[in-house]
Amino acid sequence: MEITFVGAAREVTGSCHLLHVNGHTVVLDCGMFQGRRKESAEKNKTLPVAIADIDAVVLSHAHIDHSGRLPFLVAQGYSKTIWSTSATRDLCAVMLADSAHIQEKDAEFLARREKEFIEPLYGMRHAVRTMELMVGMPYNKPFDVVPGVRATYVDAGHILGSASVVLDCTEGNVTKRLIFSGDVGRSGLAIIRDPVPPQDVDAVIMESTYGNRDHESVVGARAHLADVIRRTAARGGRVLIPAFAVGRTQEMLYNLNALQREGAIPAIPIYVDSPLAIDTTSVFAMHPETFDQSEDLVRNAKELFDFPLLNFTRDVQESKAINSAKGPMIVIAASGMVEAGRILHHLANGASDPRNTILIVGFQAEHTLGRRIVEKQPMLKIHGDEVPLRAEVEVINGYSAHADRTELATWIDSVKTTSPRLGPVWLVHGEPEPQDAFRTTLTSKGYDVSCPEPHARVTF
Ligand SMILES: [Zn+2]
Ligand SMILES: [Zn+2]
Repeated sequence: MEITFVGAAREVTGSCHLLHVNGHTVVLDCGMFQGRRKESAEKNKTLPVAIADIDAVVLSHAHIDHSGRLPFLVAQGYSKTIWSTSATRDLCAVMLADSAHIQEKDAEFLARREKEFIEPLYGMRHAVRTMELMVGMPYNKPFDVVPGVRATYVDAGHILGSASVVLDCTEGNVTKRLIFSGDVGRSGLAIIRDPVPPQDVDAVIMESTYGNRDHESVVGARAHLADVIRRTAARGGRVLIPAFAVGRTQEMLYNLNALQREGAIPAIPIYVDSPLAIDTTSVFAMHPETFDQSEDLVRNAKELFDFPLLNFTRDVQESKAINSAKGPMIVIAASGMVEAGRILHHLANGASDPRNTILIVGFQAEHTLGRRIVEKQPMLKIHGDEVPLRAEVEVINGYSAHADRTELATWIDSVKTTSPRLGPVWLVHGEPEPQDAFRTTLTSKGYDVSCPEPHARVTF
């Protein structure tokens, strides 16, 4: 039994690993590489393995760095099953269509610049065909992937539908339990349940994104949020929140709903101005079976995402009308790193007003407009125009959907407690620095840990 690490090996994006059992090959995740444009484009159009050799695909969750190349596999001729949880399948229907749209637009843009036809990585019809192949499974229900590989999804507590995958692999009369962590979430995140560490394990493929640091607490973040809104509303300003359409937007709505119910923030209108966020919010509403019933709001709210003062604006006219509305308000719009989307219009209109606050609730990568806002650069370039940054800038770090170093260690320690035969732990989905730090931590506790390079092949 062997594993080949193809993507998210010594880096965060492009999650993809090959599991070889009994002469069959199972692809675990097939995510998009993101980062430097040219290098990622090259990696994205390289198949992880010949299509004819793939017997099945098992997906951990819907984030594009895990699912984004599934339509590419399909465009190249893949026509067998793609397994996921039910909620992941439904999120993919929205997200892969959005991704296909972006691929088509990018290719058009490049074609205009280069003056020659450029084939998009995939198109809308491939995203649609991908959905025909996707089979949604409940958590905790084993299913046969190929002869000799039986899989079970357990909750990873990261985003809606996210899973760690338990893979019981049999060759001859030997059965071993491999687990693929997927992205591990945090205890206490809004709406979704906490991560469930699998038991009785022989080998582990584990993410390590934040292997070298800890986050602000989830509870502290909510008090911080209330404070920012009260202060901005008092001076008659707007709170502008750039947020990822999947996960972060719904988490913000959940917190705003709770804060308005408690009377902790004033009754001001809230706008969700992102068609993708509106679509993914409706997918959340379809999957109450994945919600954390221990949370008061989940138990007591009839409609988690339908409360007084909340407005969803889908069409462009409604979106533009927000700009001429008067008085304090909260606007949530994509994209999360302020690189595109409707948030740009709100910032072009509102960044120069000192009554407003730009509230950053997600990670901002280098070379993004979001990062320049965090750095409080005096001038922002938006749609080609210079806009002075006079609004207040606030950053809340408590909203990560990823386990931090302490939470990752807690997760693997719980696996180990129930796994007397635990062997190798391979760290994936991390930049070299946090990976090496986390490897050192685990090695000192007696784990057999390594950080495989891209294309490394190991036996278990
Ligand atoms: Zn993820
Ligand atoms: Zn990820």
